[in-house]
Amino acid sequence: MSKVIAIDGPSGSGKSSVSRRVGETLGFLHVDSGALYRIMTWQCLRQGIDTSDPVAVASFAGRVNVTFEPRGGAVEYLVGGVPPGDALRTPEINRHASPVATVKAVRDRVTGWLRGMTRFGDLIVEGRDITTAVFPESPARFYLSASAEARAERRRKEEVAKGIACQTADEVKASLLARDVIDSTRKHAPLRKADGAIEIDSTDMTIEEVVSAIIGALPDEWLKGGAS
Ligand code: C5P
Repeated sequence: MSKVIAIDGPSGSGKSSVSRRVGETLGFLHVDSGALYRIMTWQCLRQGIDTSDPVAVASFAGRVNVTFEPRGGAVEYLVGGVPPGDALRTPEINRHASPVATVKAVRDRVTGWLRGMTRFGDLIVEGRDITTAVFPESPARFYLSASAEARAERRRKEEVAKGIACQTADEVKASLLARDVIDSTRKHAPLRKADGAIEIDSTDMTIEEVVSAIIGALPDEWLKGGAS
């Protein structure tokens, strides 16, 4: 049976960089669940679906098709045979993704996709409800947190590095906090620290330190023949 490392936390808590690094070290495929909610949102916007109308979004959710391919240490997503890439990382999608992710039909569809990915092998899956709803039985569940300032600064640096920065630091922070509120107060699978998950506050930690903390907390038998 596949092993699954589950990592939740708000935007900018370091989930993506850390998950990618842990995955590379252990040979677990990296799975970015947020990108699937972004694909749902992107498709809604392209088809003119009103993202503030949960009924319209729910009836559209079943029509979104994504194919999955393990590639380069991650599960890659293809829409119409093409990876969406940075089309998913616009301020518009940042704004609409959290409302779309409140819709149960969207969550059910994404959860089904994520659970199906265990067919590819061992996974490290990051998101907002992975430890609480998607893989709550995993013996390796982590909640990453960091101060709002540190999270906004990291997001902004990422956007600058990718050449897609078009917001001030304050705008990035405001957008991130607005998403936090929606994600942690929604009815279905809200963002919260799961009982039994290990919390890591990464505000003053390097990526390497967080990676070591996660690897050090994994079940011993998972490391045999893998990471030292
Ligand atoms: O992680 P990322 O910022 O790309 O996620 C985009 C949005 O998708 C989040 O703001 C959240 O609303 C939603 N999401 C979710 N559950 C997950 C992952 C992401 O609701 N497991």
